[in-house]
Amino acid sequence: MTGHDRFLSKAAQGMQGSAIRRMGALLARQHGLISFAPGYPALDTFPAEALQDIAHALLSGSDRYVLQYGPTRGYRPLLEVIAELMAGRGAPTSLERLLVTTGSQQGLDLVARVLLDPGDAVLVEKPTYTGAIMAFRNVQAYLAGVEQGRDGFELGALDAVYARLAAEGRRVRVLYVVPNFQNPTGLLIGRERRLALLEWATRRDVLIVEDDPYRELYFEGAATEEDVRPLRADDRDERVVYLSSFSKTLAPGFRVAWVDAPEALTAKFELAKQAADMCTGTFDQRIVHEVARTGLLARQLPLLRSHYRDKCHVMREALHRELGDLVTWSEPRGGFFLWARLPDTLDADHLIERAVRHGVVYVAGEAFFADDRQETHEGRNLMRLAFSAPSHDRIREGVSRLAAAIREELSAVSSPSPAAPPAR
Ligand code: PMP
Repeated sequence: MTGHDRFLSKAAQGMQGSAIRRMGALLARQHGLISFAPGYPALDTFPAEALQDIAHALLSGSDRYVLQYGPTRGYRPLLEVIAELMAGRGAPTSLERLLVTTGSQQGLDLVARVLLDPGDAVLVEKPTYTGAIMAFRNVQAYLAGVEQGRDGFELGALDAVYARLAAEGRRVRVLYVVPNFQNPTGLLIGRERRLALLEWATRRDVLIVEDDPYRELYFEGAATEEDVRPLRADDRDERVVYLSSFSKTLAPGFRVAWVDAPEALTAKFELAKQAADMCTGTFDQRIVHEVARTGLLARQLPLLRSHYRDKCHVMREALHRELGDLVTWSEPRGGFFLWARLPDTLDADHLIERAVRHGVVYVAGEAFFADDRQETHEGRNLMRLAFSAPSHDRIREGVSRLAAAIREELSAVSSPSPAAPPAR
């Protein structure tokens, strides 16, 4: 409690920081720590030299608008590039439907502010992306968690949760889903399930918010363009608000992403964005546009796919070698994350301290479970391991540190230290 708490709005009183950001702070403090915590792209994938040339040309002075405020909707030539990308994803669109956002995180914030009143229910998977949880909580939405099966939302469980919420008199407005290489589980939802979700949302008149930052990062040989086809591509009745980003395909420092939504909603998102930041960075958008126009973006994609596939492979091999007898893990077909399950007796949150002492860190599973219907401590023995940023050697070393921490913790749990002798 600080002396200024009395000035806080109700919404601000409920705001919570992200567990992942806290891990970031930990990382900054401890030298030599190997971090599997934040889902950061690998530094060496950023095409720095090409970007230098682009930035140099843009700043040559011939066009000073590169440093001016721009339209809230976004830099028009970039919007045209995004429309082409959407068509390439099987979802042709129009400029009226598009809005450039300051990262997809802003897209989630705008979606939350425009679509949700306090107490409105949002259906999320258990587990789901922490940034979405934050955005929905900030507007005091009611988060209703639905069991995630091997293929994402279980339709039976989804409908049961919906029915219970409706019986309680709650408005169920939005279903939030990350169908491609979900953060945190790496899960790829199959096509039949995607179509079933669309059909369900139409039947129940719920809007789908489809968050799709990882779709380009499928591992060659493990998934295809067809596998990552967005729900939006099969949306026949304007049911889907689609978000995607250049953060994982170019660099997150630019903060350039987009929303594609029915025109009337995009117009509202634009108004909400005006209050937030007027426009996305003009210079950033101009760079991203050049990157796309010159073909650099398209050339990056195959490199990224093999970069992250190899890292995922290295992590899986290391886990198999070091922890094959104790831990199980997901087998992602793309993206940045492995989702690992510890023995039942262990608590991933509790283990962090010991892991940090061994020089490695991850995000404990509990952060990804949101359900306002019940006080849950789900995900206790689960952890998210991001393989995206560290080098192969650091991944191997990090997994071996993790294994040491887990084995130590296991023996501590199975043979608790003897009770202190009675005081005399
Ligand atoms: N959605 C998901 C599922 C993510 O994993 C991320 C990044 N961690 C974002 C949205 C936000 O991405 P950005 O704001 O960098 O576009």
